[in-house]
Amino acid sequence: MRQQPLIVGAGPAGTAAAIMLARGGAPPVVLERARETGDALCGGFVSWRTIRTLEQLGIDADALNPSRAVRARIFAGGRCGEAMLPRPALAVSRHRLDTVMQDRAAMLGAKIERGVAVRMIDDRTVTTADGATIAPEALLLASGKHDIRGLARPAEARGQDPALGLRIRIASSPRIRALVADAIELHLFDRGYCGIVLQEDGSANACMAVHRSRLRDAGSPEALLHEIAAEAPALADRLDAGRGADWGTIDAIANVPYGWRTGATTAGVFRLGDQAAVIPSLAGEGIGIAVASGWSSARALLAAGPLQAATWQRQFARTVTAPVRNAGVIWSLAEQRWSAPLLPLLARIPRALGAVAMATRVPAL
Ligand SMILES: Cc1cc2nc3c(=O)[nH]c(=O)nc-3n(C[C@H](O)[C@H](O)[C@H](O)COP(=O)(O)OP(=O)(O)OC[C@H]3O[C@@H](n4cnc5c(N)ncnc54)[C@H](O)[C@@H]3O)c2cc1C
Repeated sequence: MRQQPLIVGAGPAGTAAAIMLARGGAPPVVLERARETGDALCGGFVSWRTIRTLEQLGIDADALNPSRAVRARIFAGGRCGEAMLPRPALAVSRHRLDTVMQDRAAMLGAKIERGVAVRMIDDRTVTTADGATIAPEALLLASGKHDIRGLARPAEARGQDPALGLRIRIASSPRIRALVADAIELHLFDRGYCGIVLQEDGSANACMAVHRSRLRDAGSPEALLHEIAAEAPALADRLDAGRGADWGTIDAIANVPYGWRTGATTAGVFRLGDQAAVIPSLAGEGIGIAVASGWSSARALLAAGPLQAATWQRQFARTVTAPVRNAGVIWSLAEQRWSAPLLPLLARIPRALGAVAMATRVPAL
């Protein structure tokens, strides 16, 4: 390649690609709109397969979190079912994960330009917020859920009753550590679910996906949380473990286009991570897809150049078809009043939960 590749977005997809490209002798420029690395709204569950890919990228899993999540616990309709995960997983705050990946990419020679927001992409010409234009030979679009004019996902990708993500941080305490311990918990309720897991600092991340209609019916995020807490007592116990007088800050993200996936792209443009496919988050595989897409797109680019983008995009879409579809089926079962209470029972069938967990993983690339 005559020019440096350009990556838009320094989340897990963009940094995985940056690490691979830098290692392969083509250190990229990465444009990241945030000046400081934040703590993106995310459950932070990292599967055993993603741990392996991260380690292949030179990221030490213990530096993310030395503790492991070894079991899954599902709560629905007053029932609880628990099973071991096929392999140990971990949970990490996005602040830690993104920082470690960005540092590794920069250490290998990637140039991360912070505070630079891309406003528009026309063909492969990128226009930043301050009006500068760049026309790279190879563009890797890794802007996550954020759509950029010119390459935005279609509005229909959000569906009829789009989901929103809500997050509450539960401060570390003996009670929350004893309740959650070494499990990833899923609490199912009408039109949504909440995942809870302990992060590297002992605090718990309670991350929910809820349909917009449920928020509209409740009136406000606080009213919605009170309703959900009344419906799901085990979840209420956990939220109360970190609650002072109120819920603290409730972070929110709207219109998550779950189930969206594309095999089409513009010449020379690789769409990575959530820009390639958005898996329902109860599968805990969005980071896995992001890292796998960064890894494999960079390898394709290094091996065959920017013209490989269209072929790579089609292949990657095929690779993620089954996990995205399977996660969608499980999500819709988790949302139905008749089927949700059956899921804790499923967890009690030997190896059933492990099979579900495997069916929603992106295959090793
Ligand atoms: C409620 C919820 C819970 C989830 N829980 C989990 C989980 O437990 N486990 C899991 O694996 N996945 C989970 N996910 C999914 C996961 O968060 C995403 O799939 C993952 O973050 C995608 O990574 P990415 O690099 O594609 O995008 P992102 O992580 O969104 O990174 C995109 C980066 O691009 C930057 N950017 C955006 N726009 C621009 C622009 N115009 N110019 C420059 N930079 C830009 C952003 O600042 C950001 O740094 C969850 C998602 C939700 C909504």
